[in-house]
Amino acid sequence: MKWRSFSDAIVTGLAPDGSLWVPEKFPSIKAALEPRLPMSVWASFMLKPFLEGDPLSIELEKICQAAFSFDAPLIQVKNGLEVLELFHGPTAAFKDFGARFLAECIVRLKPTRPRLVLVATSGDTGGAVASAFFGKPNIRVVILYPEGGVTPRQESQIAGWGGNIEAFRVAGVFDDCQRMVKEAFQDKELQARFNLTSANSINVGRLLPQAVYYARASVDYKRRHGLKPKFIIPSGNAGNAVAAFWARTMGFPIGEIVFATNANRAIGEFVNTGTIHFRTTITTLANAMDVGNPSNLERLKVLFPIWDATNAQTRAVSVSDTEIRETIEQAEKKWGFLPCPHTATAFFTHTKVGPGPWIAVATAHPAKFETVVEPLVGHAIEVPAVLQDICNRVPVSKAIAPSLQELKVILLQTLRACE
Ligand SMILES: *Cc1c(COP(=O)(O)O)cnc(C)c1O
Repeated sequence: MKWRSFSDAIVTGLAPDGSLWVPEKFPSIKAALEPRLPMSVWASFMLKPFLEGDPLSIELEKICQAAFSFDAPLIQVKNGLEVLELFHGPTAAFKDFGARFLAECIVRLKPTRPRLVLVATSGDTGGAVASAFFGKPNIRVVILYPEGGVTPRQESQIAGWGGNIEAFRVAGVFDDCQRMVKEAFQDKELQARFNLTSANSINVGRLLPQAVYYARASVDYKRRHGLKPKFIIPSGNAGNAVAAFWARTMGFPIGEIVFATNANRAIGEFVNTGTIHFRTTITTLANAMDVGNPSNLERLKVLFPIWDATNAQTRAVSVSDTEIRETIEQAEKKWGFLPCPHTATAFFTHTKVGPGPWIAVATAHPAKFETVVEPLVGHAIEVPAVLQDICNRVPVSKAIAPSLQELKVILLQTLRACE
């Protein structure tokens, strides 16, 4: 459903009819900025038209300065292939951009009651959301993650905070966590009792700011090479890729957008047939992409009501665990770049999709997935300084069954704790 007000769309999470919020219209952005200007300047420039008339618009510059406090550099790895590094934020995955933007928006929308931010994670969202909201006044965060489905370092980033961040390990997979969050938002009783806010990529407050790095990278690339780059995007819930489609819709010089997926094939099926089928989630080495039911495909259908992959200028490539392993093993020699398992799907895809120019999107730092990557390359990966402190914390979480009923009981306890 199209939003009337951006603020309303971010606090409600889902539209009243249960659909995902999408922009009422996409501004056509004609004059591009100088690519070297900081991300925060790009962000306020690009997002301004979306917030016209919104209470948050006068604060937009401050929001962007606080949220976009790190860079997204484009690195050349070989002729015709550059890498867009999205892992320089505090939790070393691209989700920092959206989570921090959302958090800065939400703290500025002063609620009458304390807010409860509810989020499901397949591994990286939880850490990014926890880091972005940690210590923010009047906000409690509840994170659901699949028990046994995340790496030890991811778990520390999700459940190592304490304070206003609570973590629950669900006896299920990511889709269970996501379903529970969706059901919670459609539950009348919960809606009546809570100031519930979702921080998943169903929330446009996370998705929209991701369009910024695609816009800036495409303008940067075009200035340097005179060509429109095509993007390869490691995808699970398809939020990151939808942001690239949105940037292209605004007129930025972006060619084909290729989804690199793991063994979960719902995105590929959608690209080829235009229909969205629910699939049981398959567990893979690229765990943040273990999604059987990618919510954001619904947003692509809004952009392209009559689906045709050629017309939408897109393709999808599914990458097996074996191919992910082989790609990681060869990467340092072949590209001089060590990818995380998700980024490896983009590197593998690059070998299948023909002539570029290509930009592969690096969605996380390999040190977050040390248990996968280190045995394959045979050496330790240095942990980025930003990650060191949180990765050393001991995770504290509660076990929970994959049912809305159980979540409800816990949320009601949380409500009492808030009061
Ligand atoms: C979340 C995540 C993805 C998938 O992004 P979607 O927006 O869900 O498609 C890919 N790689 C990493 C490292 C992630 O954390």
